[in-house]
Amino acid sequence: MKTQVIAIDGYASTGKSTLSKRLATHLGYTYVDTGYMFRAIGLYVLQNNLIVDDVITLSELEKALPTLQFSWVEGEDAQLLMALNGRLYGEELRSTEVSNLVSRVATAAAVRSHLLEQQRKLSDNTSVVMDGRDIGTVVFPNATHKFFLNAKPEIRAERRYAEMQAKGIPGTLDEVLANVIERDRLDSTRAIAPLVKAQDAIEIDTSAMDVEAVFQLLCDHIKS
Ligand code: C5P
Repeated sequence: MKTQVIAIDGYASTGKSTLSKRLATHLGYTYVDTGYMFRAIGLYVLQNNLIVDDVITLSELEKALPTLQFSWVEGEDAQLLMALNGRLYGEELRSTEVSNLVSRVATAAAVRSHLLEQQRKLSDNTSVVMDGRDIGTVVFPNATHKFFLNAKPEIRAERRYAEMQAKGIPGTLDEVLANVIERDRLDSTRAIAPLVKAQDAIEIDTSAMDVEAVFQLLCDHIKS
């Protein structure tokens, strides 16, 4: 049977992962958070001192990429949990240090091509809801459904800050806002697979909507 792909792209902290997880559970699909893959490489850069005088040593990172193998384990809520070289990663990938670096790592051509094939393979045997920045444009241009989420930066930063506080992740609201704006800028202006709405994606501005309302809207589009 042909597997289905629902692509959920959009700006930073628009609620993509919460909605994707919920949608995957609802549809009986598997949820894949591609941001975690880029974040794991960002953490690798930090932990292995591949950043010198604030410049990523790309030649070293490129050499290391073939040794960075992702694998996936079924978790709760339809989510695939990501392991890098056999070690499971989760919330630590959402730290301020990783968030401040990840979009620079994601501009590297070698990083993107290393991840692209691994992302595509994830839908070989199972239908997926996949969230990211280039899922509907580059990873799965023929996805069954495509959504593109947006919201005002201030609102996104407030939501993310509240989430961080609830989870005990340190950081201030100003730092979160600055990070959201800078990541959007880097993600939208990079040369390869920039963050842009796929022509056939449905755009949703979630500024004035709660999760429930956005979820219902997604379900309505999928049903129709
Ligand atoms: O989704 P999340 O905010 O965790 O993604 C972190 C970063 O990873 C993004 O800001 C972007 O730089 C990069 N990313 C990407 N392409 C994807 C998913 C994430 O470039 N498909």
